[in-house]
Amino acid sequence: MNPQPDFGDIMQGIREVIQLSSNIRKPCSHCSTGPGLDDDVGEGINHYLGHGFRILHVGQETQWAPDGKQLWHVTVAILGK
Ligand SMILES: [Zn+2]
Repeated sequence: MNPQPDFGDIMQGIREVIQLSSNIRKPCSHCSTGPGLDDDVGEGINHYLGHGFRILHVGQETQWAPDGKQLWHVTVAILGK
């Protein structure tokens, strides 16, 4: 059995979490000005930092492409506030 992950204080006070992905573009859940469809994950992170979010995790996710033949390596960022 795996031990419970120790999040320490990183989740302290977090009431809302969002995920950014390098292959999925979603409009900001707090305003209508960004991040843009052409913005990368870094620009998305910068946008949400401006709304008071902080970075909880940045990592990689592997997905099958829709054709089922290729693997996509996607960068994801989890932010919370
Ligand atoms: Zn916004």
